[in-house]
Amino acid sequence: HPRTAPLRARAEIDLAALRANVRALRAHAPTAALMAVVKSDAYGHGAVQCARAAREAGATWLGTATPEEALALRAAGLPGRVMCWLWTPGGPWAEAIEADIDVSVSGMWALREAVAAAEAVGTRARVQLKADTGLGRAGCQPADWPELVAGALAAEARGLITVTGLWSHFACADEPGHPSVQAQLTLFREMVAYAEEQGVRPEVRHIANSPATLTLPESHFDLVRTGIAVYGISPSPELGTPADFGLRPVMTLSASLALVKHVPAGHGVSYGHHYVTPGATTLGLVPVGYADGVPRHASGTGPVLIGGKWRTVAGRVAMDQFVVDLGGDEPEPGAVAVLFGPGDGGEPTAEDWARAAGTIAYEIVTRIGTRVPRVHV
Ligand code: PLP
Repeated sequence: HPRTAPLRARAEIDLAALRANVRALRAHAPTAALMAVVKSDAYGHGAVQCARAAREAGATWLGTATPEEALALRAAGLPGRVMCWLWTPGGPWAEAIEADIDVSVSGMWALREAVAAAEAVGTRARVQLKADTGLGRAGCQPADWPELVAGALAAEARGLITVTGLWSHFACADEPGHPSVQAQLTLFREMVAYAEEQGVRPEVRHIANSPATLTLPESHFDLVRTGIAVYGISPSPELGTPADFGLRPVMTLSASLALVKHVPAGHGVSYGHHYVTPGATTLGLVPVGYADGVPRHASGTGPVLIGGKWRTVAGRVAMDQFVVDLGGDEPEPGAVAVLFGPGDGGEPTAEDWARAAGTIAYEIVTRIGTRVPRVHV
């Protein structure tokens, strides 16, 4: 991790680690193609840079939630297969279709909008049909599947769309013994078989996210959609550490100490005085706060490495800063405070922050704010 942090704060993004993670994931799913999920600015890591690096390491697909995210990849010059799945009525269907982006539809309104846009722009749309096999979120219910499949086949016969994929998403793949996992797999096979019997010829069938890619080979089908694992984070601490899966965390978040000062015993620290110095000590000011994505729920619990020692957020995390009790140590202003990184330099990990804040590491990295520059190395 960085020895010096000349910026107030920085999120260093180790693209070599990202490439190695993609290669490791391809080895976990050798018979499937790999989609790097780069939604939400690549889980906070920088979508365009991460998408390029993932492609270099063999990810043939890129996946986003919104069409705007997919179009931004195209605008940055990324060729190849790109898919997006979170549509709302009136979305930029025509732009996505003209940009050769695979669009997902979960129901009839979306299929109708995709078909109308394809007709208007005179380009065949690549459409993937999403099944709800048990997540209870996006996706077509089994009862509505025959209508969606029939509608898609009719549009295909008119030359307006190609059904490129049949797909679904797991609810509990991070709990491998959970009965819903096998139930979803069984229903997915049935819904795929039905569509294929009706004449759908999908190029890709896919359901696996990171945990399924790492632990459930029978879920790999033609394509695996990996998000969190690309960024070197384990989908769940119960499944294993990143190292257990041959992964390495990609983001290191650090800040430059803004102030070091002596205070007496009994000094209240930060809003609400939830920390009161137990004795005379030194305080360090870490100039990142909840506006930068440091969770306020980690007030009093979040860890940070300063001068080789773990310190804990003293009192509340504020919008732009938090304080640590340095126990009498006097690092220079500008000394590096590492909030999280791969962990092998003694620093905490995003997982440690997730535990401190009562959330998941996905949320920690994804919420790092735009005010923190990403430094891709
Ligand atoms: N597929 C879909 C539809 C998703 O929404 C996501 C992310 O939540 C993923 C794949 C990737 O999941 P993970 O980050 O667990 O690999």
